[in-house]
Amino acid sequence: MANYLKTKAIVLGYRDLAEHDRLYTLYTEAKGKMEVRVRGARKILSKLQPPLASIAVVRVLIYEGRSRPLLIGIETSERLPQIAHALWRRQVAARFIRLVDLSTKPEIHDPELFMLLRDALLMMERIEANQANALRDAFILQLLIHSGYRPELDICVNCRADAPTAFSAAHGGAICRTCAARVDPASMPISAADLDALRAHATVPLAVVSILPAADLGAITQALLRYRLETPLWFPVVN
Ligand SMILES: [Zn+2]
Repeated sequence: MANYLKTKAIVLGYRDLAEHDRLYTLYTEAKGKMEVRVRGARKILSKLQPPLASIAVVRVLIYEGRSRPLLIGIETSERLPQIAHALWRRQVAARFIRLVDLSTKPEIHDPELFMLLRDALLMMERIEANQANALRDAFILQLLIHSGYRPELDICVNCRADAPTAFSAAHGGAICRTCAARVDPASMPISAADLDALRAHATVPLAVVSILPAADLGAITQALLRYRLETPLWFPVVN
C-alpha cells in the first residue's frame, strides 16, 4: 500500500541516476536518513531545485510506494541566508552535514539527531566568527556521544587513575601520564581546565554555545573524529 510521508528534513547530498533522475539523501525528522528519488530531474528539478540545492531546513512530501521513495514536494521551512552568503559559515555548516551523513545508516528513526543537526545549522546562521570553534567542538562531541562514542573525561581511560593529564584519541579519552607513555605515544597533554571545557562542550545546548569557556579543543575533537568516525574530515580555520 502506498503512503505519503510529510516531514521536516535536511538535504545531505545527491547523486545522478539514469534517465536524468537524481537520488537525494535526506536526514528526515520522521525516519532518519532516507534516500529519495527525484524523477526526470532536469524538468522537475527546476521546480524543486532551489530548496534542494541550498543548506536549509525543508519540509518534504515523499511518496512511498513499492519501489524507492519518490520526492514529490519540497518547500523551505527555515531559510539560512547568512550561511548562503558567507563562505566560512557555509564551509562549517557543510561539514556538520557531512558528519551526520558519515555517522548514520538509513532508516533509523532518530529525531534527537535531526534536532542536533538543525540546531547546529541554525547557530551557524547567526554566531559570530569567534564562536565558530566552540560550536564546532560542541557539535562534534555531542554527535560522537549520540553515536555511542562518549569520550572518558574524568579518569584515566586505561587504568582508571584520577586526575589524568593527557588525552588519547585512539583510546577514547583522558589518560594518565604513565599509561600515555606506555600505550599511546601520540597522546596530547591536556590541562584540568581543558577537561572541564570538554565536559561543558559535551553537554551545553548548542543554542547557548556562547556561554562556553574559551578553549582550544580543535586538535582533540578532530583527533576523536579521525579515530571514531575514521574520517580525515578537517574543519576550516575560522578566526
Ligand atoms: Zn592510566
